[in-house]
Amino acid sequence: MAWTGDRRTRPRRGARRLPEKLRRRVLHRYPTCQLAIPGICVGTSAEVHHVTPDSEGGTDAEFVNGQPQLVGVCSPCHRRVSARDSAARANLGTRVLREKERHPGILP
Ligand SMILES: [Zn+2]
Repeated sequence: MAWTGDRRTRPRRGARRLPEKLRRRVLHRYPTCQLAIPGICVGTSAEVHHVTPDSEGGTDAEFVNGQPQLVGVCSPCHRRVSARDSAARANLGTRVLREKERHPGILP
């Protein structure tokens, strides 16, 4: 097999982990889930959510212009918003209008 170069084997930017110290500080600041999605929220923060996603210029700063950028959220809520975000992004790329089927007309 031919060598294909190393550009496409780099880890995705959005997949990197926060430093443990930072993660703990954020969870300490937000002990309860900041998303609080009714029906799925378990209340206690377990993960750090980026308010502005990495893909939209978000950073690992705790605050941006006085607004929190990193907040504590529970796992079910985090999964829900992550799924919604990626689903929304996927929809942007795959929204293809289905071609209308032509009426076959009356066959002889
Ligand atoms: Zn929650």
